[in-house]
Amino acid sequence: MVRRYDVAVVGLGVMGAMAAWQAARQGASVIGLDRFAPGHGLGSSHGGSRIFRMLLFEGAPYVSLARTSLGLFRQLEATSGAGLLDQCGGLLIGTRDGPAIAAARAAARLGGIDHRVLEGDALRARFPQHTLDEDELALYEPTAGVIRPEAAVRAAVAAAATCGARIEPGARCLALDEDGQGTVITTDTGVHRARTVILAAGCWTAGLLPDLALPLRPQRSVLTWFRPAAGGARAHGPARFPVFVRRSGDRQGWGIPDVDGLGVKVGLSGPASPKRWLDRPEDNWTTPPAEAETAPVAAFVRRTLPGLLPAVASAQACMDGRTPDGHFVVGIPARRPGTVVCGGFAGHGFKHAPAIGLAAAQLALEGATEMPVGAFSPDRFERSERSGRPVRSDLGGRRAGPAPRSRGVHP
Ligand SMILES: Cc1cc2nc3c(=O)[nH]c(=O)nc-3n(C[C@H](O)[C@H](O)[C@H](O)COP(=O)(O)OP(=O)(O)OC[C@H]3O[C@@H](n4cnc5c(N)ncnc54)[C@H](O)[C@@H]3O)c2cc1C
Repeated sequence: MVRRYDVAVVGLGVMGAMAAWQAARQGASVIGLDRFAPGHGLGSSHGGSRIFRMLLFEGAPYVSLARTSLGLFRQLEATSGAGLLDQCGGLLIGTRDGPAIAAARAAARLGGIDHRVLEGDALRARFPQHTLDEDELALYEPTAGVIRPEAAVRAAVAAAATCGARIEPGARCLALDEDGQGTVITTDTGVHRARTVILAAGCWTAGLLPDLALPLRPQRSVLTWFRPAAGGARAHGPARFPVFVRRSGDRQGWGIPDVDGLGVKVGLSGPASPKRWLDRPEDNWTTPPAEAETAPVAAFVRRTLPGLLPAVASAQACMDGRTPDGHFVVGIPARRPGTVVCGGFAGHGFKHAPAIGLAAAQLALEGATEMPVGAFSPDRFERSERSGRPVRSDLGGRRAGPAPRSRGVHP
């Protein structure tokens, strides 16, 4: 017999897990499906740590989403008993007059985000782990920190189940057919029916809606860890080494303190970042990290983090979906009124996931949301194609031509 649900969540990475939790806690009957077990390492939500920060330079809605997410991460910690977010602080390091510092300061003013400006000798004395030039300053944000991705996914899935959701790992969705009364979800283990589907299948999202031809492309990036030099372990732990994002000329990268003894996680952003497009997301599983992908990160470490050994201690492949304008996709497509699409999180979605989950649940259950996701409409690409004008979000954001350019991760 085909079971009927209010909401079917397809994909239980961080976005789907949070959406299932939010929909189930609002009293809806929910089924959550994933082809793998929650917390797996084959999509986008793995690798031991993610940066949380609110001093964001990507646009005003993101600040608001991060603020909501902070509260929801704390609620999930209380529900699960798991430590998910260590607010060890964060640094945005940038050229004094550079665009990242200016945008982050504007975001701080707009969102009332607590931060301190550090420069010169005071900055170098407090954070000697970084090589800092005279023209650089840092914004220190005490609310920033480290999220534990696998634990967060598992906690949200468990919270959804506690609220009554049926969770089916090992169920691969093959087709989503809307028929006017809802959607028939065909998986390799059975068939279900739901009034609304929340599709949060990460890099597989566009492939499950072939009729929409969404321009969501999987982009691979490799996570890399570096060990501190002898005697430097404490100086690179969360108590003394906050998460950082650096946007100074050709030194664009990010880092996360050593939270589990594996070393400091470092990545690159911007043009020097060795990212590449994947024809199929599955190709990421069979392609081991290559020297060409890790060597530029090691060079960044050598140049900017003198207390770390510049040899890569370990590396792991990861990926995320990207849109032509670099902004998220969250919304109900006009041609798919029974589907909420969540995708294109472009290397910086984790910190926003609880708020995106809330938005998706509200859209699925009420058709509208109080979360500021209007600029992320999946229909913006089709509108742009019809008008012949480039995709333009309402964020004053970035333009894009027909094919997405490879951009670095700005976590
Ligand atoms: C290198 C890197 C570093 C990052 N660092 C940060 C950071 O520091 N801070 C930050 O905020 N963000 C960061 N991000 C971004 C963030 O991790 C992602 O945006 C987020 O994890 C995306 O989650 P998701 O749920 O969309 O995708 P996924 O985690 O991939 O989840 C999709 C799920 O769908 C399932 N699925 C797929 N197809 C099917 C199917 N047919 N049937 C059933 N299930 C299916 C998959 O198994 C998977 O579990 C980073 C990303 C990368 C790549």
